[in-house]
Amino acid sequence: MAKTLRKLLVLSTPVGPLGTGLGGGVELTLFNMAQVLRERGYSLTVLAPQGSKLPPLEIEPLPGAMQDTAQSQGRQTPVTLPPQSVLGAMCERARQRQSQVDAIINFAYDWLPFYLTPFFEIPIFHFVSMGSLNEAMDEAVRKAVQSHPQRVTFYTRTQAETFGIDNVQGLYIPSGLDLSLYDFCDRPGTQLAWVGRIAPEKGLEDALAAISQTGDEMTVWGVMQCPDYWDEIRQRHPHANVRYGGFLPTEALQKALGQCRGLVMTSKWVEAFGNVAIEALACGVPVVSYCRGGPAEIVRDGETGWLVEPDSVPALVAGIEKLPQLSRSACRQQAETEYSLAAMGDRLEQWLSHP
Ligand code: UDP
Repeated sequence: MAKTLRKLLVLSTPVGPLGTGLGGGVELTLFNMAQVLRERGYSLTVLAPQGSKLPPLEIEPLPGAMQDTAQSQGRQTPVTLPPQSVLGAMCERARQRQSQVDAIINFAYDWLPFYLTPFFEIPIFHFVSMGSLNEAMDEAVRKAVQSHPQRVTFYTRTQAETFGIDNVQGLYIPSGLDLSLYDFCDRPGTQLAWVGRIAPEKGLEDALAAISQTGDEMTVWGVMQCPDYWDEIRQRHPHANVRYGGFLPTEALQKALGQCRGLVMTSKWVEAFGNVAIEALACGVPVVSYCRGGPAEIVRDGETGWLVEPDSVPALVAGIEKLPQLSRSACRQQAETEYSLAAMGDRLEQWLSHP
């Protein structure tokens, strides 16, 4: 396999410092991709907002104002950059550094780096971390795909399709995990887990409605992105036996998640991937999810989880009730065969071999 591009500059998500969880699953994906490339002899510099911490990755912090998240804006919202934009600073630093590296990998789900594709003198590879959310961004993604189809990649086919792209010549790169950090737990407790940013697109209210019916106890872990939304749905479902467990680092999250008898996923949007699904599988935890987006490509229905009719609380309830039929070792096995760091590393290297 050609390995011509050894020195890489990585553009992080510009919506929050790495390590805070504000960037969502792309933080873990970036971390794992950078780790596996380093192990394979690549050298990487990560440009990221000031305050970023993702040891042992070396980060070059840049000051500046964060981007708003794309999912909090409408489809027609014009492209916006705040004054003293951190994304602007990251792109400017990349321009200055381009003579010292072989290629740039962009993880920012933002118009600017896509628009700048032809302005760089070295190859820029784009990892698209969410589905289609905004017209201007869609246009920029499609243009990058048209000019360099093999340099733009997505987590999943379903995600690429939301941009009207169904024949991507580049690869899909599903996430992968360092499975040595996830312990298989064969003897779970009785509670359920829900893991993710607490935000409307994640549909947490449906999980609360479901456990109000089943009587299950559930813990929610993740960044409290929308506290008003949390308060509102708690009031709407006063009988849901739910507790907020906070935002935990991976080591503590996997320990707590492994103790759960199932993970409930209720995304209302087309989840590009759903890192939490593979993290659950890695711990031996089966997943009940709406049959939509990334989780529908990950979960093996009837084997490692139940894929149920989207937006149907009765279907969620039925899935939760059927959790005991699933084998926890089959879950771990799937994570090992499909979502290892090695599997992701091979796909990454294949992607980067298309200068
Ligand atoms: N996460 C975490 N600690 C928590 C809860 C969640 O580190 O307490 C991380 C989790 O590991 C995952 C991310 O938050 O990588 C959520 O990503 P996902 O792809 O599921 O959804 P997104 O937020 O990107 O929509």
